[in-house]
Parts: sequence; C-alpha cells; structure tokens
Amino acid sequence: MKENKTTYYCSTCQKQVTWHYEPVNHLKQALLSVITVGLWLPMWLGLTLVKVKYCDKCQSPLSDD
Ligand SMILES: [Zn+2]
Repeated sequence: MKENKTTYYCSTCQKQVTWHYEPVNHLKQALLSVITVGLWLPMWLGLTLVKVKYCDKCQSPLSDD
C-alpha cells in the first residue's frame, strides 16, 4: 500500500507527520458495551462513523483543525 501523500500537524511530535486510520476493533467494542451495560454503544457508533486519523510516529489521534 502506498503512503498517504497528505501530512497533518501532530501536536505531540510537533511536526508534519504521515497518518493512518485506525480500524475499529468491533470485538473489543462489543465487549465494552456488555461490560458497561450498553452505555458504551453510543461511543461504538461514534467510533464507527467518525474516522479518526492517527499519527504514524506516535499513534496519537490528529485533529482536523
Ligand atoms: Zn505524532
């Protein structure tokens, strides 16, 4: 797979970095939903709908701002 051409500023690394999408671990989300008696379900939905970019260097989530 080719590297992403666009870079984002990472506040943790304090420089422009390449990034990737973190795939949602649905098994873990399902487990969390069971543990929290369904309270985690909105978070699971949010994680599934909102694609968060992660820094390739430090794995921190990047903001789109
Ligand atoms: Zn970083």
